Amino acid sequence: TEDKSLHFIEQIIEENITDGFPKDKLRFRFPPEPNGYLHIGHAKSICLQFGLGLRYNAPVNLRFDDTNPAKEEQEYVDAIKDDLQWLGFKWDEEHYASDYFQQLYDWAIVLINKGKAYVDSQSSEDMATQKGTPTQPGVDGPYRNRSIEENLSLFEGMKNGDFPEGTHVLRAKIDMKSTNMLMRDPLMYRILHRHHHRTGNDWKIYPMYDYAHGESDYIEQISHSICTLEFVMHRELYNWFLDQIYDNSLVRPHQYEFARLNLNYTVMSKRKLLQLVQDKVVNGWDDPRMPTISGLRRRGYTANAIRKFCDTIGVAKRENVIDVSLLEFCLREDLNKTAPRVMAVLDPIKVIITNYPEGKEESLDAENNQEDETAGFRKVPFSRELYIEREDFLEVAPAKFFRLSIGNEVRLKNAYIIKGESVVKDNEGNITEIHVSYDTDSLSGSGSEASKRKVAGTLHWVSIAHAIPAEVRVYDRLFIDEAPDSHKEKNFLDFMNQNSLEIVTGYVEPSLVSAEIDNKFQFQRLGYFNVDKDSTALKLVFNKTVGLKDAWEE
Ligand code: ATP
Ligand code: MG
Ligand code: MG
Repeated sequence: TEDKSLHFIEQIIEENITDGFPKDKLRFRFPPEPNGYLHIGHAKSICLQFGLGLRYNAPVNLRFDDTNPAKEEQEYVDAIKDDLQWLGFKWDEEHYASDYFQQLYDWAIVLINKGKAYVDSQSSEDMATQKGTPTQPGVDGPYRNRSIEENLSLFEGMKNGDFPEGTHVLRAKIDMKSTNMLMRDPLMYRILHRHHHRTGNDWKIYPMYDYAHGESDYIEQISHSICTLEFVMHRELYNWFLDQIYDNSLVRPHQYEFARLNLNYTVMSKRKLLQLVQDKVVNGWDDPRMPTISGLRRRGYTANAIRKFCDTIGVAKRENVIDVSLLEFCLREDLNKTAPRVMAVLDPIKVIITNYPEGKEESLDAENNQEDETAGFRKVPFSRELYIEREDFLEVAPAKFFRLSIGNEVRLKNAYIIKGESVVKDNEGNITEIHVSYDTDSLSGSGSEASKRKVAGTLHWVSIAHAIPAEVRVYDRLFIDEAPDSHKEKNFLDFMNQNSLEIVTGYVEPSLVSAEIDNKFQFQRLGYFNVDKDSTALKLVFNKTVGLKDAWEE
């Protein structure tokens, strides 16, 4: 009887346990290649692997799959560890595939001695031609039957740096006619005279992913090696490499595949994200518009929201595309519960309350978060001259305009009811001031009859004399196309949204003077904002994290 609340990988594990697999031998790993920053797709894999670790109380290793020195860097290793910790997960052991280079080399010699691997000395073009096509079997190359002695000596020469790059490779000797192209004598090693971020110049040959990955799982005794669907065809090879060295007193790893996360309006391959960084289309890997974990974090995403999102989409067996608005929904749900409410005006227009005494100021009580009883109240200064949002006023109100207009009343949040009286315009007819009167008895929370009066709308505002100017970075989607990297004729860079960043000067209430980097707020009626890392005591900088509702809905 299968438990429907379990996803398919959990169901497989449950079956394995029922069939006698010892629970205390369950072990998982998250295996990033340190060639870029983690993105929201990786978060999906992380939540899956670490979720299994939590469910089965089993260790989860962090393994850096660092077998390609040309693209890997220490900066990426550090960033990956930071992001994992921020997401709230603890790995058991930290490993590097490069720590296994000697063991992998020794096993390669075992394969040569068994007649299961050989050195091929042809050009890559010739090897590719011999490989055939999916519908046409490959043919054996001229070096396939080299003697074991010759193979051993050449392979040692490769290791010692005796040969230039591209002159020899080590290949597994499997079957050039296999229906699975990956089984047609795949490469195990290539010569690379490159500096490796951990092993320096020790190695002149580097193992291929397919060879290194399964054997690394075996070394670490990973029971369930979970990867994405594009590795389905690699499974046969994964098993073949294990067959050559497997000792049946140890755990034999098995590979399982799930569907990678795809998000619309987003590119997710590290190669493409690197291009955005290198071409300076964005301001670094942690640009708040990037789908990287560090970008999302800087944008104001919470780890909680990202985990909730991964949980909500579940673990699928088939490829699909998730709407990016679901990610935003999960974020809003979380911030709604936790973000203190404050007032800020991003597109100010001046309001003068003509019957409010000049020079007078009041300190009004404002509730911090109606969703959180423990959040308490703060003081907000009120005075005769205020800013409200330009779009909250129209001289002549159309039907169903629930904001301020001449002759109509609105409430100022936490304060009084005001009524539009007249406007002042400049020579071009632009409104520069709105003159209003206020109902002196209508203070919110005062308990008076007038305080309970119902008016059409409530506006946010700041007192001009007290407000703090702040830089506010307002973001929009980075791409204007739903699937920017799916076009045959065009490059994903052809679909950049030219207006993905707008910088405005806004005015925030003075309580924000003490706001610290990454503090998160709801700017009432505007959305959620956090303090950017560029913010200083002299100049507050905010990021717009997400709006209050889905602006793209209709
Ligand atoms: P990219 O294609 O973006 O370069 P990758 O798969 O090459 O990603 P790795 O560092 O090898 O990046 O990935 C580490 C782990 O994260 C792998 O197990 C991989 O399957 C998983 N992963 C990567 N992208 C996604 C995604 N979009 N959805 C789910 N899992 C992913
Ligand atoms: Mg990979
Ligand atoms: Mg990759």
